[in-house]
Amino acid sequence: MSEEEARAAFRAVRFADSGGRPVCPRCQCDAVHEFQCRPIFKCKACERQFSLTSGTVFDRRKMLFRDILTAIALFVNGASGVSALRLTREIDCSYKTAFVLLHKLREAMGSMRVDRMLTGVVEVDGVWVGGHFKQKNVKAERPDRRVKNPKRLSVVTMRERRPGGRTISVIVKQETEAFNALLQHIDPSASIRTDEGSAWTALHMFFDEHKQINHSVRYAEPGGIHTNWAESFNARLRRAERGVHHRIWGRYLLAYAQELGWREDFRRVDNGRQFTLVVGAAANSPTSRLSGYWQRHLRAA
Ligand SMILES: [Zn+2]
Repeated sequence: MSEEEARAAFRAVRFADSGGRPVCPRCQCDAVHEFQCRPIFKCKACERQFSLTSGTVFDRRKMLFRDILTAIALFVNGASGVSALRLTREIDCSYKTAFVLLHKLREAMGSMRVDRMLTGVVEVDGVWVGGHFKQKNVKAERPDRRVKNPKRLSVVTMRERRPGGRTISVIVKQETEAFNALLQHIDPSASIRTDEGSAWTALHMFFDEHKQINHSVRYAEPGGIHTNWAESFNARLRRAERGVHHRIWGRYLLAYAQELGWREDFRRVDNGRQFTLVVGAAANSPTSRLSGYWQRHLRAA
């Protein structure tokens, strides 16, 4: 794909609602002048100039459209995600560029999450992530690893058990802290399935049904009492952490969890469609808080 073709492809997705005709990102006016000598537009109503990426996560990009689209294609094809280091090799850019681009895509995926309450059978489960101890060389200096690690975080996931269901994750220090998030995201009419964790015992007071499965006895009981769908998400998160990223910083854990939730929810969609969905989400989600910055200079969310 040439740069011009990539630009045209991006334009078609960005302005899909108006059939490819540019619309002002500031005032939504469609009376727009297109400059002949430069690839920019000018709104006839508010007189502001804008580009194809203004008001999207790629605002103020320097990367070629061709590289951005290649990166998105690689990103959707990795079942457990793609590491920034691998992307630097594939599209020949710096690590920071790849890291930020991938996080912009995660932001766009996060923005695609449906804003509705989860219904039907909803499985809830938590998984511990992070808090790595670097082992000391001498045995006497090694910390007791059975002591609870203050740095580790729990990813608590709610997952609808049905085809086309949705997966939502929250990050907490203790599973009990996830309680409010569960009430916020799950409809009271839902049937909740959890394991025997003490954090979940009070759930029966807030939802129509709550069944717990004792994993030390069996993984599933007749009548659909299990949390295997939530466990399957946890397994994907584990594989992504160990196999792809190796280490995930707590600050970014939610972004990774949202990315993997998206992969779980859209796993049956073919990769061509997944590609269009991510390009569309990136082209239509607001300017990223990761633009014009590096890690320690994050703009407020
Ligand atoms: Zn305008």
